[in-house]
Amino acid sequence: PAHNAHASPLLIKRLLLSGSRYERTREIVYRDLVRHSYATFTERVARLANVLTAAGVKAGDTVAVMDWDSHRYLECMFAIPMIGAVLHTINIRLSPEQILYTMNHAEDRFVLVNSEFTPLYQAISGQLTTVENTLLLSDDPQATVELPGMVGEYESMLAEASAHYDFPEFDENSVATTFYTTGTTGNPKGVYFTHRQLVLHTLAMAGVVGSLDSVRLMGNSDVYMPITPMFHVHAWGMPYVATMLGVKQVYPGRYDPDLLVQLWQRENVTFSHCVPTILQMVLNAKSAQGVDFGGWKIIIGGSALNRSLYLAARETGIQLSAAYGMSETCPLICAAYLNEELLASSESERTTYLIKAGVPVPMVEAALMAEDGSLLPQDGETQGELVLRAPWLTQGYFREPEKSEELWQGGWMHTGDVATLDDMGFIDIRDRLKDVIKTGGEWLSSLALEDLISSHPAVREVAVVGLPDPQWGERPFALLVLRPEQTLEARDLREHLKPFVEQGHINKWAIPSQIAVVTEIPKTSVGKLDKKRIRKEVAGWQAA
Ligand code: ADP
Repeated sequence: PAHNAHASPLLIKRLLLSGSRYERTREIVYRDLVRHSYATFTERVARLANVLTAAGVKAGDTVAVMDWDSHRYLECMFAIPMIGAVLHTINIRLSPEQILYTMNHAEDRFVLVNSEFTPLYQAISGQLTTVENTLLLSDDPQATVELPGMVGEYESMLAEASAHYDFPEFDENSVATTFYTTGTTGNPKGVYFTHRQLVLHTLAMAGVVGSLDSVRLMGNSDVYMPITPMFHVHAWGMPYVATMLGVKQVYPGRYDPDLLVQLWQRENVTFSHCVPTILQMVLNAKSAQGVDFGGWKIIIGGSALNRSLYLAARETGIQLSAAYGMSETCPLICAAYLNEELLASSESERTTYLIKAGVPVPMVEAALMAEDGSLLPQDGETQGELVLRAPWLTQGYFREPEKSEELWQGGWMHTGDVATLDDMGFIDIRDRLKDVIKTGGEWLSSLALEDLISSHPAVREVAVVGLPDPQWGERPFALLVLRPEQTLEARDLREHLKPFVEQGHINKWAIPSQIAVVTEIPKTSVGKLDKKRIRKEVAGWQAA
């Protein structure tokens, strides 16, 4: 027999076995609307599989979901890949043209649509080239919504379906999920992950969130609530981890900061993850004022975690730590980790490490590459492009052979990020290759500058971009949102940054000569600073 003839393939259905067996009464909660047990959840996964199969969905078909974070989305994350179909998590924050592009490009066959998105769906449905049928998702089963090709409404169809499904065994290298990068430059690109990759990612993530002494984040008795959308890199894969561990899960629907605070209080949430801007939004919410958030552990990723947000969160009792990853990486690559030596160091030293991107998690190899393809020293100072190898990286971009080849040039996956690596393995993301500011013949990290500027007491939010300059090549420009009733001039910022120049943290070219105070900084569909749009807008003002 083959050497693996009796080895169970690494299929997503196996992640369901443990949690749903030994925590059958633990709850899965959706806003203030739904609360049921793991036993019910497991049955509903089988019912959904029956509904999809009866509607003609077959192994290999792509099934798309258009929803906010919900218990139904969690069911889709299991049922769709478990019948051998591919789950396409649609980024509903993209423009309608981009959504249409991704759905046609992914060749979606069947779509589950939240009733809130019916106007959007109706507007694009005439141009969808591959979709055959739809299923309506609604919080109000009485709602009378008609979608093109609709086979029915989710809850009523599930209620009628059998609660048993014999989920098949198949090749663990079958694609389970796909989704699109946010496409801030050009068309969004499709990444895809196999069952094997997602299972290994789940196991690694469970190890990371459950076992690191310095940042123990999610054990079996924690309560989990995502604040990274499920359409964005499967909410960082955490719903798979939570389900495998049998953790109580809380799904907040569309992110409304006051509702998030309410759910946190009412459901005793202890673990979440989000990008910095979303945390900022939660901390600024009316209902968050004066609240002691003690016991809430949050992983920040997707953008750099700066010291001032770290400190502001800590004052409210929130325990923050950073992690790094991207759509192409499933996403887990590294997470904050304090070894014994760092645990014994000063508070400020510990903070310095907790806000870095972290150290690579098990099974991830990281290196720095020079433009000529050679590998660079890992001395904490040399900067180069971060390149990766790991079992769960996308093997390419769907139907984009040239871009796939670029992504994997030289046998490493190129992140497009400039980083340093130190001898402990800590990765410090300095910038994106395309955002780094080239001034006076040097590379200036916009992230490092944002970190220093954010420590000014008047500053609530900051974005730094490079603008073309005839003399210097580029010069940094800072866009600022101030705290209420504060003012700030370019010269105040210069005074604030001077000590960092004197201490050698930055050179004097790093001080922005121009700043602009605005009420809002442009963000991408997932709440990150949209540097491309910022550069364009600022150039527009300057031309005017
Ligand atoms: P997009 O590129 O559209 O923002 P991703 O979610 O794939 O979509 O973003 C990944 C990028 O986010 C990384 O390449 C990196 O530039 C940035 N990023 C993620 N985590 C961190 C972090 N901890 N520190 C700094 N940058 C980060």
